[in-house]
Amino acid sequence: MAHDTSGHGFSTKAIHAGQTPDPLTGAVVPPIVLASTHMQDGVGNLRSGYEYARGGNPTRDGLQVQLAALEGADHAFAFASGLAGEDALLRSVLVPGDTIVMGNDVYGGTHRLAKRIFGRWNVSVVTVEMTDLDAVKKTVAEHKPKVLWVETPSNPFMKVSSIADLAAIGSSVGATVVVDNTFATPYLQRPLEWGADVVVHSMTKYLGGHSDVLGGAVVTNDKEIAEQVGFHQFAAGAVMSPFEAWLTTRGIKTLAVRVDRHGENALAIAHMLADDSRVAEVFYPGLDTHPGHELAKKQMSGFGGMLSFRLATAAQAKTFVESTSVFTLAESLGGVESLVNYPCEMTHASVRGTELEVPDTIVRLSVGIESVEDLLADVAAALNAAV
Ligand SMILES: *Cc1c(COP(=O)(O)O)cnc(C)c1O
Repeated sequence: MAHDTSGHGFSTKAIHAGQTPDPLTGAVVPPIVLASTHMQDGVGNLRSGYEYARGGNPTRDGLQVQLAALEGADHAFAFASGLAGEDALLRSVLVPGDTIVMGNDVYGGTHRLAKRIFGRWNVSVVTVEMTDLDAVKKTVAEHKPKVLWVETPSNPFMKVSSIADLAAIGSSVGATVVVDNTFATPYLQRPLEWGADVVVHSMTKYLGGHSDVLGGAVVTNDKEIAEQVGFHQFAAGAVMSPFEAWLTTRGIKTLAVRVDRHGENALAIAHMLADDSRVAEVFYPGLDTHPGHELAKKQMSGFGGMLSFRLATAAQAKTFVESTSVFTLAESLGGVESLVNYPCEMTHASVRGTELEVPDTIVRLSVGIESVEDLLADVAAALNAAV
């Protein structure tokens, strides 16, 4: 029996959507289907539509159903990485000569993809401050973009921009409005409900949640975009593998409890940093001093596990990131373990010298779900070492 989760709450969907027990054996967790090809009962007479794994795989399909349920969407597509999904989406909606308008602090890899890969196909990239709606209106009216690319909260400054307002601005010129929902996850924010056309994810981060899988997703209610993205997934082939899909599905089942704890721990650390005079500035939307706090309260159901802060000098910032013991110095984010990152030389090295450059005094934390007292003590000790 298929679980119909449509009337259920978030975590019921996360655990049951697309995860029907195996009809043959009753295995509660559907087995991973690794087969690259499926037997046909006569030419073209397929079992449940399965033929060749690039076109469709039961384990990937289960994840796609699960993802669509969580974002409140009709269609979801799983890719080999976040950028592979973004690439398939952009190929689906752009033609040479088109323009993309994106935030001036989007994920560096997204900017690089748009500028250096799509730039070769004569696609233009215009960046704008997404929290300044007048500036966005002006830029959109002037450039008539085919795509308006939104990332909220943004990285590393955790700027919050209004999805509903940006969706209206984008729609006014017929742009496809895309929200990168990697930081918030569908547990905290569902952009399609605020009028966005498409949601993308790096599932490598919170959805996978354990720093052991690379994956991406494109999610939409738009039938035409879905047809195109599905075609690109099949025809260009950057599909997620069955094992990766299974790991991601497993991660998603605990998304809500993990993100609750990420948020509690991050808020505690943000308060501690904000109360410390050695810290120049803290960027966390859960602080009532954050310029996006009120909007975040309206648009999100929590503030997530990512935060950044500024120290007085680059030397202090670099010493801090090399002085923690529970926080591991590493790129990426969204796993159960806490990570510390020096954006200007690590995650944001690819945007050095562009308008997306991050100052060398900024430290970014991906706050994990370890015991909060250990995280607080670790941050305090690293601050003492640095300043
Ligand atoms: C990591 C990340 C991506 C890219 O995803 P990959 O899985 O690394 O390809 C895109 N957007 C955001 C916000 C990210 O953090």
